[in-house]
Formats: sequence, C-alpha cells, structure tokens
Amino acid sequence: MGIIEKKKIEGILSGYKKLSIATVCSHSALQIFQGARQGKVHSIGICTKDRLEFYKSFPHARPDEFLVVDSLADVPVEELVARDAIVVPHGSFVEYVGEKLDGMAVPVFGNRRSLQFERDRMKMFSWMGKAGLRIPKTMKPEEINGLAIVKFPGAKGGMGYMIVKSEKEYWEKVGKKKALIQEFIVGVRAYPHYFHSIFSEAGYKTAYGHVELMGVDRRVESNAEEIARAVAAGGNVPLSFTVVGNASMVMRESLLPSFMDIGRNVCNSSKELFGGMHGPFCVETIVTEDLDIYAFEISARIVAGTNVLHHPYAEFTHGEMVSTGKRIAQELKEAFRKKKLNEIVY
Ligand code: AMP
Repeated sequence: MGIIEKKKIEGILSGYKKLSIATVCSHSALQIFQGARQGKVHSIGICTKDRLEFYKSFPHARPDEFLVVDSLADVPVEELVARDAIVVPHGSFVEYVGEKLDGMAVPVFGNRRSLQFERDRMKMFSWMGKAGLRIPKTMKPEEINGLAIVKFPGAKGGMGYMIVKSEKEYWEKVGKKKALIQEFIVGVRAYPHYFHSIFSEAGYKTAYGHVELMGVDRRVESNAEEIARAVAAGGNVPLSFTVVGNASMVMRESLLPSFMDIGRNVCNSSKELFGGMHGPFCVETIVTEDLDIYAFEISARIVAGTNVLHHPYAEFTHGEMVSTGKRIAQELKEAFRKKKLNEIVY
C-alpha cells in the first residue's frame, strides 16, 4: 500500500474542533495517557478485551475512553477521526500495524515517513550515514573475523539474535536464513531519547526547530545482563538480547555534547531525506572504552526507555520533571492552539 497523501490528512485535520490523543494499549501507552491527563487532553486507548482490566487498573494513567478491538493491528480509523484523535505511534504500534500505517487515514503525530525509514534496515543505514554517525560495520559471512552479531528480519526487542566468531560458525548456526551480520561492538550501551519541537527554544537548534535531550536509558536484556552469574556458576550459555525492561542512566557529562550533536544531525538529515521528524525519537548507541560512540539504530518514535519517568535531562530542560508523554501532549496542544497541527502531524 502506498503512503496516504499529506493533503488527505490535512483535510481530516481541518475538520477537527478539539484535540484528543489515541494510542494502542501496549509499550508506552500508560505514559502517553498519563501525559495527556496532565495536559488535560482527552485520551483514547485502543485495546483488546484481555488487556482492559490491566489498563483500567491505573486511575492516573488509564485513558479517558477505550475503543475495544479484536486485534491490536486493527486500528479503528473512522472512530478515531470521529473523536478528533491524533494517533501517537510507539514501538508495539509500529510492530502490530506494520506497513498498514502508511495508508492509515487518521492523523499521526510526527511524520509517518520516518517510520518507513525505521522499518527498512537499508533506509535506516542511509539515514544514519547521512547523519554522519559512526556505525558498526555490516559484513558478508566470508568477512567475519572476530565477534559478529547476527540479526534476523522482523526480530523485535533483540529476540533470537546470535553471536558468531567465524564464517564456519555462521554457516553452522545460521545457514541460508536471511540475516544482517554486524560487527559486535564491545562497550556500554546508552539509549539517548530526544524530543524535536518546532516551538521549543531549549536544546540544540536544528534546521527546523530545536532538539531537546529528554533522558538516557539502558535496556535490561535477558540474559546479557545477568550472564556473569551463570558463567561464574560454571555454565556455558550463549549470550541473548531479549529486552525485558529499561533503567535510567546518566552519562559522563563530557559525552553529552556529542549526544546532542547526534540528535541534531539525525534531525537535520531527516529533514533532507523525508521532510523532518517531530516529537520523540531515540538513537541506540554503544560507547567503547575509547569513548567512541557507535550508533546501531534509530527509533523514529517514543521508545520504552522513556517509561522510566525521571530523567534529569528533561528536568534540566524544562525546570520540572516532564515525561515524554507529557511533552507530546504539550507540543500537540501548542500546535492546536496556534493552528499548526499540519506541521507536526502526518
Ligand atoms: P536492536 O534490535 O538492533 O535494537 O538490538 C538489540 C540488542 O542487541 C541491543 O540492545 C544490544 O544489546 C545488542 N546489539 C545490537 N547491535 C549490536 C552491535 N552491533 N554490537 C553489540 N551489541 C549489539
């Protein structure tokens, strides 16, 4: 399916008399609903029956209204438009809805073209290259010489990734399956999350607004995080990278200017490639012992690491603790008031 014309979305927006925020009940939905509540914006949760009890159980973070669906992949587009809703895409949303998101006739916060770049690894590499990021080397099986990480298409949250050390091991373990082979970077993983705003005066200036650093997290992965215990106990288990949670971190302060530059460069290159990105995004990085920063992925929407609500950088920027969910509500409200929703919604 092709991407819906921007004009059509502008047409839908022109009929909006109020503002509401909708998302699928998963990933960072509680934070998005809490943020909408804090900003006094009506919120809508797209939810399956089996999840209702859970999402109703948080009085301060549940949505004001539920739209119950059979599958989270079925976004009830007409009901959302009838409620003047802007959809906030998150990681699970992007995963469940997939390419259907391109053609969805409902306004989406940000630029849906950015999610096409997130979905397609080759597009993602071209974007990271244009942003001047240092990227781990991609290899053919015959080029494997040392630690390499093997990533399978559609693998989510690191599930099923493998480590190989030689071409021989690659063919034995992976065979002819389609996979991306990448140099394994040894270092500390750090996931800075940003917010691009067309109104903000804080953060670093970009070609089309300002980019704020909201926080940094690290993913807590099973079993990578705890493998030392198994090894110390005499076990010989393969490393795995299934994300089970996130923890906030603060960076050595002298690294932060580089992270700000990375955020700005990603925004500026997105402007050149597909008209710019708006709202939350994240760059997944690994910092080596020489303090080189490698970037291996861009998430062009809110990431689950923002669920750790207390990040000092958001507080340094806004003078109080502002979650990414609250920041989304603020930006959308300001755009609605200034009749500029068209600029940050597609
Ligand atoms: P991804 O699905 O690309 O976000 O990767 C999932 C996890 O795999 C990351 O959080 C890292 O722990 C690990 N990982 C991915 N790429 C690399 C790499 N090039 N070097 C080392 N670890 C990596």
